Amino acid sequence: MSFCVACGHQTEAKIPVGDHKTRLVCTNCGNIHYENPKVICGALAIWDDKVLLCRRAIEPRYGLWTLPAGYMELFETMEQGAARETREEAEAEVEIEQLYCMYNIPRIGQIYVLFKAQLKQGLFGAGEESLECRLFEEHEIPWTELAFPSVEHTLRHYFEDRKQGLFPSHLETLGTRLDQTG
Ligand SMILES: [Zn+2]
Repeated sequence: MSFCVACGHQTEAKIPVGDHKTRLVCTNCGNIHYENPKVICGALAIWDDKVLLCRRAIEPRYGLWTLPAGYMELFETMEQGAARETREEAEAEVEIEQLYCMYNIPRIGQIYVLFKAQLKQGLFGAGEESLECRLFEEHEIPWTELAFPSVEHTLRHYFEDRKQGLFPSHLETLGTRLDQTG
């Protein structure tokens, strides 16, 4: 049984008038509890031709390497979200340069938005959600220990694009794995 987030009364599953999907609707105030995809923002932070990765100190994918990224908060922009996540996970300040990679992951209702960014002064630490953070050159990337397909795709795009010195935005649809999360 579910309860209304607005008034605490019981909800029922039904198709609201003019809608086409079943929603949880409050039997008291009529509040409709929409469930929509979540946006995950992150940064591909670069310093001196190296990329910043964080080794996860949390599940899922504990111990694997990821780009600093996480759920967007209310009242912030995607760029702010990417910078905040980088601050939280890597204790690093970044200059957001451009929108770089976007991934639809419809299977789990997620949208990833990754920005290319400059790590300021090459400074970073390791936030609470990270066991360690490190700058990697291309040949050092731990390809078999990356946490998510989105991380691997973004790194592959980056090293490929870097050869031309051009960084167009990439949009892809990922997600055949059941257990993939942000
Ligand atoms: Zn209600």
